[in-house]
Amino acid sequence: MKALVFQGPGACAWEDVADPDVQDASDAVVRIDAVTICGTDLHILKGDVPEVQPGTVLGHEAVGEVVEVGAEVRAFRPGDRVLVSCISSCGRCRYCRTGLYGQCRGGGGWMLGHLIDGTQAEYVRVPFADLSLHPVPGAVDSEQAVLLADIFPTAYEVGVENGRVRPSDTVVVVGAGPVGLAAVATAQLYSPERIIAVDRAPARLDAAKRLGADAVVAADEGPEQLVADLTDGLGADVVIEAVGLPETFEMCLRMVRPGGHVANVGVHGAPAMLHLEDLWSRNVTVSTGLVDTHSTPTLLRMLAAGRLPAASSLVTHTFPLDAMEEAYDVFARPAITGALKVVLGGEHHDALVPAP
Ligand code: NAD
Ligand code: ZN
Repeated sequence: MKALVFQGPGACAWEDVADPDVQDASDAVVRIDAVTICGTDLHILKGDVPEVQPGTVLGHEAVGEVVEVGAEVRAFRPGDRVLVSCISSCGRCRYCRTGLYGQCRGGGGWMLGHLIDGTQAEYVRVPFADLSLHPVPGAVDSEQAVLLADIFPTAYEVGVENGRVRPSDTVVVVGAGPVGLAAVATAQLYSPERIIAVDRAPARLDAAKRLGADAVVAADEGPEQLVADLTDGLGADVVIEAVGLPETFEMCLRMVRPGGHVANVGVHGAPAMLHLEDLWSRNVTVSTGLVDTHSTPTLLRMLAAGRLPAASSLVTHTFPLDAMEEAYDVFARPAITGALKVVLGGEHHDALVPAP
């Protein structure tokens, strides 16, 4: 089959590799229908995620059809249409038993396109299939469902849930990339009084408005003052960090009200300052998290019911599966291409995959 193979920092190629097969009785093999590219894949290509070995097939988000299952797989059969979650889950370890699948100690966690071959391929082997796949309701497009493999659960769980968004809250989302935009979309499920989005890119602020932000502000045009003005000087109830830089994390802590929540979503590569000399008396809660994807079934039902309409407006470009290299090029230059999420395959492009 063809797959996007990581060749070491700075290089990847769409090339021939061996077809995956069932290696463990809990595995399934899925034929890829729709797949997307994540900002994290770009981090891997830059060499920021050194545990990814050259030769690994990238990708941790997909929708496809089960073609083969191991003897222990009970929940899925060949022919089932499934969402491949970015997080695999053994279901048995201490963390999985409490829904903290991202922290799985039994061989799951973030595996696909990281420690094992991923989804940017014609086929993928999914470990612990019973818990790592989700049935996709018939009414849901693959292009939309694929956004629920990572960015929607990430924004909802690590941003909105950890941030404890409540009715009438003022919510600030710093960073309006796909994850921040999904946070803007899912924060609305809790009827906040207002959502304020902060970014550097005007196109991303426009997207935030389309997705329901009540106010948008450029990072260099006084977001802290705007938040103070809109909250009688108090600060926001919830601030969600969806960039991953020291300066944005520190700004989030200057924008939160006493007793409020700062939910960090961004992946950080450098230390950030926690100003305890200002914060110790302000009853602020700071949360961190890797997505668990415990919310994926809920989000899928909402998508099927038309209660997550934002999903479609995040996909800016679609490609056939074999245009992977071109899709990476478009996704990696969002300032020029306007890309938010790019989807390969799916209903609007035949995946051109031969039968197994
Ligand atoms: P992205 O790079 O597409 O979006 C980041 C946004 O931040 C961009 O729109 C950029 O213009 C904006 N930005 C950059 N510098 C800024 C600044 N100084 N002030 C304000 N905005 C600024 O990334 P994404 O895919 O939306 O992901 C967001 C973050 O979430 C990344 O760090 C990603 O690695 C992380 N992430 C975390 C998890 C998790 O489980 N915690 C999962 C997926 C992604
Ligand atoms: Zn586990």
